[in-house]
Amino acid sequence: MTTPRLWAAVTLAALLVALAVGAAVLIPWHRPPAPRADQLAALAQLPADRVERARAFHAELRWPGYASMAVGLVVALVIGLTPLGAWLVTQAGRPFGGHWVARAVLGGLLVVFAGGLVTLPFAAWRHTILVRYGLSTQSWGGWTADVLKSAAVSAVLGAVVLLAFFAVTRYVPRWWWAWGAAGAFLLVVLLSFVLPVLVEPVFNKFTPMASGAQREQLMALAARDGVPVKDVLVADASRRTRAVNAYVSGLGPTRRIVVYDTLLREAPPEEVASVVAHELGHAKDGDVLTGTLLGALGAAAGVAALYLLGAWDGLLRLAGVPAAGGGGADTVAGGGVAGGATGPGGFGDPRAIGLLLAVGAVAGLVMGPAQSLVSRRIEARADAHALALTRDPATFTAMQRRLSLVNLGDPDPPAWEQALFGSHPTAVERMAAAAAYARGER
Ligand SMILES: [Zn+2]
Repeated sequence: MTTPRLWAAVTLAALLVALAVGAAVLIPWHRPPAPRADQLAALAQLPADRVERARAFHAELRWPGYASMAVGLVVALVIGLTPLGAWLVTQAGRPFGGHWVARAVLGGLLVVFAGGLVTLPFAAWRHTILVRYGLSTQSWGGWTADVLKSAAVSAVLGAVVLLAFFAVTRYVPRWWWAWGAAGAFLLVVLLSFVLPVLVEPVFNKFTPMASGAQREQLMALAARDGVPVKDVLVADASRRTRAVNAYVSGLGPTRRIVVYDTLLREAPPEEVASVVAHELGHAKDGDVLTGTLLGALGAAAGVAALYLLGAWDGLLRLAGVPAAGGGGADTVAGGGVAGGATGPGGFGDPRAIGLLLAVGAVAGLVMGPAQSLVSRRIEARADAHALALTRDPATFTAMQRRLSLVNLGDPDPPAWEQALFGSHPTAVERMAAAAAYARGER
């Protein structure tokens, strides 16, 4: 083993240990009780026709949902595990004499958007279902504007990340993984601060909640909870959806509680307070910080693992990428850079972008269920916080019922689907937790 490789292995091991310790300490593995008997009682309380409609809605959504996942994965694997990805990157660099910047940025965006484009028809299919069921209020014009806006945001963010990553692999070819891991860590932290402030306003307009009884009630709730809240903002979600929601985003000075205008329209003030109490739970328990820290450790570990994976020559050969340290065959690549004909090879070469995305797609698929499980545990804790703060399980239950009915959620989805993709406890689990709380069970 060469020295950088040995250090990468040691660093990866250390990061994985830190990730395991962080997950063990920061994630509330204990789940508040939500007995199945209470879940079934809660389900029986919901209007049967509305539950049927929600289930029909989700049955329809499965088609574009799973088709999109499957096609997206197949395309990522075809681009990444055949020389197609390397060919696309090479073509993108051709008008610029194969300069590494053109390959890294234009080639990278070409590969990313090629992958995104094939799943676009499924997103459009999904939109038709949302419109038919009355959940989306968006016209095709508004939908297209959203697609273009997120493409623009991805392009800007992607260009910066691609340029930085391949500059490091080029100029620090033996130790790029160390810089890359540190950079990935910082990037996740930075995005956690910056995204709510810079990106969310691209999609929605946020206005401070009008002063009055409701705002005072919510600020008083936060004060009673001991959570410093700078502001409660209202998002104009109604331009896009009928769904109701609220969330907390950002860290420290960028932290704010955001309430959908649809929620204010649909729900009485005490139910809005119950939702905000849940969000205060996220703030008080530092859930954004937990997510950021675990995400940053995971990203850094991913870069180190990627570097080590680069030692697998067979994988690189499949993708038509020169091996790490053996980029000598690439005489065209450095055409624009004097004396820079060879790159670092392996994952440090822009021609490996397709392979990189294929590895990322597989890793995402494998990690998804674990992320969902962590999310469900954190959400259950925020629910418990809301119940303890408001001491009003009846309103909490009414709010969950409204949330489920208005959002066309399946209150009791199939267990396998919930295990794989559920980011929150199911509606009946949340109502059962309230019933258990009311009986004094913790
Ligand atoms: Zn939550």
